[in-house]
Amino acid sequence: MSFNKKSFYQEVREVRRRKSLTQAELAKIVKCKQSAISMYEAGHEDALAYKTIILIARELELAIPEEVVVDYMPEDIKLSCLKYCPIDDCPSNIPYVAGGEIHFKPTMILTLKGESTRCAYCGEVLQDCCPNESCGLPLSDGGFCSHCGDSYVAVTRMMRGSLEEWAAKRCEIIKELRSMSETVKFIA
Ligand SMILES: [Zn+2]
Ligand SMILES: [Zn+2]
Repeated sequence: MSFNKKSFYQEVREVRRRKSLTQAELAKIVKCKQSAISMYEAGHEDALAYKTIILIARELELAIPEEVVVDYMPEDIKLSCLKYCPIDDCPSNIPYVAGGEIHFKPTMILTLKGESTRCAYCGEVLQDCCPNESCGLPLSDGGFCSHCGDSYVAVTRMMRGSLEEWAAKRCEIIKELRSMSETVKFIA
């Protein structure tokens, strides 16, 4: 399923305004030119260096979506890592049925390494490595660790009846919850 997403520059503009920060104030904090922020917020996504975007995301308590970084240089990407919410009941985790069991595909977000990031939906601290204690390797996209094969999201709830129906219904609820919490953002 797909969710309508705002562009990151639109989020930056909205959250900056909500925090009553002017472009000039934000520029001073992250040490760039006000004109660069102005251009970035207008949709010129190459107006800011990746490091500045990381500083802005930190200041505005925003997670940087994965699609924002694909065009940047690999050395910049070293500053960030994938994280996900480990709570199976959280709308960031999409259920599906495979092999007669419920699994969850977590929404991976790319954010600053080595810092605690909280889930935009449930407030839980996001997990930044495989939860299997004897593995603990960095995350890959998808529902399972590509190294040890463990599920990233542990299923803690009991499901009655058809798992397919449950998953389909849950996906509908998640879609609704996500559209309602459009304005909820990641809290560092
Ligand atoms: Zn969550
Ligand atoms: Zn693992």
